[in-house]
Parts: sequence; C-alpha cells; structure tokens
Amino acid sequence: MSVITQPLDLLRQQDPQMADVLDGERQRQATGLQLIAAENFTSAAVLTALGSELANKYAEGYPGARHHGGCEYADLAEQIAVERARALFGAEHANVQPHSGSAAVLAAYAALLRPGDTVLAMALTSGGHLTHGSPANFSGRWFDFVGYGVDAATGLIDYARVQRLAHEHRPKAIVCGSISYPRHPEYSVFREIADEVGAFLIADASHPIGLVAGGAAPSPVPYADIVVATTHKVLRGPRGGMILCGSEFAERIDRAVFPFTQGGPQMHSIAAKAVAFGEAAGPAFTSYAHRVVANGRALADALAAGGFAITTGGTDTHLITADPAPLGVDGAGARGRLAAAGIVLDTCALPYGDQRGIRLGTAAVTTQGMGEAEMGRIAELFTAALTGGEPTKIRSDVNELVVSFPPYGV
Ligand SMILES: *Cc1c(COP(=O)(O)O)cnc(C)c1O
Repeated sequence: MSVITQPLDLLRQQDPQMADVLDGERQRQATGLQLIAAENFTSAAVLTALGSELANKYAEGYPGARHHGGCEYADLAEQIAVERARALFGAEHANVQPHSGSAAVLAAYAALLRPGDTVLAMALTSGGHLTHGSPANFSGRWFDFVGYGVDAATGLIDYARVQRLAHEHRPKAIVCGSISYPRHPEYSVFREIADEVGAFLIADASHPIGLVAGGAAPSPVPYADIVVATTHKVLRGPRGGMILCGSEFAERIDRAVFPFTQGGPQMHSIAAKAVAFGEAAGPAFTSYAHRVVANGRALADALAAGGFAITTGGTDTHLITADPAPLGVDGAGARGRLAAAGIVLDTCALPYGDQRGIRLGTAAVTTQGMGEAEMGRIAELFTAALTGGEPTKIRSDVNELVVSFPPYGV
C-alpha cells in the first residue's frame, strides 16, 4: 500500500466524491511521466506535516510576537524552519511565511520599492515570470518594468544589453531569475551592474534554489540583496515561498510579508517547509540534486539526438527548453501529443520567433529514482509520440517505465 493511502481511506468513508478525485490524481501522478519543470514529489513526511493540526492554528505575527494566544508550538515550528533555512543557505535572515513564490516577490518589491519605480527584469517573452512585469499582474501595473532578453542565436542572457539598459533606465531594482533559463545566471555580473547604477539586486531563485541547497548550483545569497524562492520545485517542500536576506533588510522584509501583504501564516505549511529544509540539509539530498542535473544533461543530449533543437545547446540544471519544430510540430502540438501518451510538460517561449517550444524538468522523475538510462528511454518515447507512433502503444510503454518507480512506494 502507498504510504499516503491510509488518510485517504478515512476520507473515503466521509466524502467518497472527493476521495475519488484525490485517488484519481494519485493515479495520474503515478502512472504518467511528470516532467513539468516546476513540479516534484514531496516526501511522505512533508505531506504528513501539511495534514497536521497546525493547519488549524492562527499565528499572525512572528515567533514571540503573535497577535493570538496558544502559539507556543507555532513559534517552535517557525523558529525551526527559519533556523534551518538560514543554515541551509548561509543567510543572515530568512522569512518562511510567504504563501507562494509570487507572494514572496510581492513582499520583496514592497520592502524595496514604491509604486511607479523602474525595475529591470527578464522580459516575459524570454522567460521572465508573471511577477516580473506582466501587464496582467500587479507587478506590471504598479511598477515600470524594463525587460532584458536572451540572445536569439545562443539563448544566453545578453549581459552587455542588461548593462546598457541599466545605465539607460536607472532602475531602482534589478531582478535576475526566470521560469525557463536552463543555465546558471552570472550573479556576480548582475551584482556589478546593480552597483554601477545604484540598484537593489533581487534574485528570484524559485527554480534553482533546490539545486543550491544540494550544492549543485551557485548560490545567489552572497550577491543579491534579497533572494526570493519557492519551496516546492526542486527543493521538494510544500507549495510556498521564502525570502532570504542580510540583517540590514530583515525588518523591512518581515513587515512587507506581515502585515503589509499577508495575514495569518499557514503554520502547517511552515512546519512542512522545516521538514523539507531538514531533508535538504542531508547527504541524500546533495546526491539527489547532482543526479537531477546529470539527468537534465542526459535527457537534453538524448532529445538532441532525437532531433529536438535544445535551447542554449543543453542545460546546467533540471530545466530543458527545446524547439520540436525539426520533428514537424510546434510547442502546443507537442504538448498535446505527449499528454495523450501520459507525458506531462509545458510549452514555453523560445529565444527566437513567435513559435512556442516545450519546457520540461527532471526534478520529479529523479525523485522517483530514475537515472540516465531512463532519460534515454524518455527521449525515445518523445520521438515516438511526435513522429506518428501509435498513442495507446506509447501510453502503455510510458506505464511500463513508470511502474518500476512509484513515487510513494508500492
Ligand atoms: C515558480 C516561480 C514563481 C512563482 O511561484 P508561485 O508559487 O507559483 O507563485 C516566481 N518566480 C519564478 C522565477 C518562478 O519560477
């Protein structure tokens, strides 16, 4: 029996309709290939903390200074989470209350900026996040965003252009970070450019922060004034956000999270973040983070051999973006055909043209225990699905592959 089925059996007695939905989702996750770059499988321990009675607790404020009584265990949970985050990332200060990555970005802007300020960030068409200036998001409405891009030929950040735009627009803050950039940002170069124009440097490390925790990617902490991140991507914690900074920004960040942008913290989620930080501090996670990158490289190479045009020619991380055009299909078409075969991923912008590509990541399949041999097999399944292979046959090949790697045990 899966380690997480027991609570579901209890739910089934009371609410069979919702139990069926949760059961269906569990089956979906276990029987397909989960390649969405931002997803992962948390441990059963993280899920247990999420389902704990801390979900019932109101704890507005911070440990030792709450607006509610009965916070002795909430305080302990948050102190443990903060201490573990600080130790894991070598940060002077950590705030673990943001409900999501977007909430963490909002709080970082609230701490440093005023409405109308100019911010230089990666353009959405090059892989910037919604919170990096989308007109549909608070960021684009309340701040004046200028976008830098990637080079159309290499797919790499054009640092000379970042520098030119910084001098031209004199932003109050520069944001480095992306939803799809497969290489390590040059944090020291961003720092130099920010210093040249007197801008704050905000690193949105939502994607790579788990690799940073495992020593498989450079850390933005020594370079950025404020680091924002999610806890649920490669880091493998519960859905949520966090902020790391030096002591000089601690008070501004804490006030920007509560009471400026949030009310009561989700204490069950903070406990689960602490559990994930504890896991990430161990040698098994270091090994995991390095295997994620090795699998990323192996999958990128195998997809390239299958005819995909890999953006930047490869990856340093879990993230791969690719153009399936050489196989005669665009990003949306590829996503649809792969989904029919039980292979789940996203589309993404490409460094050139208006066509979309595909974006995928190796965090979840690596958690399942897959290695470089399986990456080769996955690339074969991609090629089969996109070059007219029989969908039901490919779907059953996918099942055959994943059945040996159950995310929560058998
Ligand atoms: C995922 C991500 C976010 C937002 O995270 P949510 O938890 O979905 O709000 C922000 N910035 C970047 C770069 C991300 O990849």
